[in-house]
Amino acid sequence: MSSPDALVIPTDLLPRDGRFGSGPSKVRAAQVEALAHDAATFLGTSHRQSTVRAKVAEVREGLAALFDLPEGYEVLLGNGGTTCFWDAATFQLIERKSQHLSFGEFSSKFAAAAAAAPHLEAPSVIASEAGTHPRAVTEDGVDLYALTHNETSTGVMMEIRRPAGADGLVAVDATSAAGGVMVDPTEFDCYYFAPQKAFAADGGLWLALCSPAAVARIEALAGSGRWTPAFFDLKVALDNSRLNQTYNTPALATIHLLASQVTWMNENGGLAFAAGRSSRSAEILYSWAEASAFARPFVADPAQRSSVVATVDFVDEVDAATVAKVLRRNGVLDTEPYRKLGRNQLRVAMFPAIDPEDVAALCASINWVVGNL
Ligand SMILES: *Cc1c(COP(=O)(O)O)cnc(C)c1O
Repeated sequence: MSSPDALVIPTDLLPRDGRFGSGPSKVRAAQVEALAHDAATFLGTSHRQSTVRAKVAEVREGLAALFDLPEGYEVLLGNGGTTCFWDAATFQLIERKSQHLSFGEFSSKFAAAAAAAPHLEAPSVIASEAGTHPRAVTEDGVDLYALTHNETSTGVMMEIRRPAGADGLVAVDATSAAGGVMVDPTEFDCYYFAPQKAFAADGGLWLALCSPAAVARIEALAGSGRWTPAFFDLKVALDNSRLNQTYNTPALATIHLLASQVTWMNENGGLAFAAGRSSRSAEILYSWAEASAFARPFVADPAQRSSVVATVDFVDEVDAATVAKVLRRNGVLDTEPYRKLGRNQLRVAMFPAIDPEDVAALCASINWVVGNL
């Protein structure tokens, strides 16, 4: 038995890159180098001029290609991240009533935002235990179904399908899934996310892939007389996005890092390439946990296990927080569980930027730490 403070993981076991956080997540060195290369003509220049607008266009066109968006789908963006998009959606995507699948911290927050909006009817909320996901059911009077592709707080992933026979819009919080998980765009009307997860950039921006029906909803609600603060006005965002701009000043570095990652994905085989990297990491990590004497996947149903954010429970005899602390002291960062879940577990991001070999090295490092505690 050694004091956790004294444990030095052998260098040959350690991952080459120690970033396993679920957001902000690992940014590849090549993205940072590309930003440094362009810095003198890009950073600190007007976001209304062609240099920055061309980068925004690269992001919008790159995302349309990556997701193979059907004719008529549009890529919208604005400042404020996903949390801001939820508020915008309560103004200009939900007409009267939404239905929410609530199965963790993030999915419950959009439900709460809709419930608090005085101009909407009380939403219908279908909840399930942490570590599982509920299923959407077609419901009269619901004009927007709010799904979450990957619940980052619990490591539960669900397949995106329109509820059978539903005529409402399908809006998907894909913040931690987009770019790391396959999806069929004909199954959603609005697939929204932020760039600090699978897109390996920084936070502060939201992006939304919108079907013609979602665009029509935005335009109809914008003309409906419903009071909407300009910052949450999706019609304002739509008009600006079409000009490759945002309503107010965006973080230019975020846009540049995001463009690099989208281009990297597209040049290497698109979404299948990116999702394939995450799937390979997930295979490594879950196989390790299932074979381990002290760890097991938190999500019981293999079909609901996330391929981008894994949660691994530890037996009572092994304190996951101590393991995470030792890892951190050895340069392996952000394996702590989602704070409000309160379980004896580690959470490990497996976004496309993260090398599957580093996930294997992480497993070996955890084995070493537990063996030496
Ligand atoms: C991280 C995350 C959010 C919050 O994103 P912000 O950009 O910080 O607002 C929302 N939903 C999911 C599923 C997330 O993973």
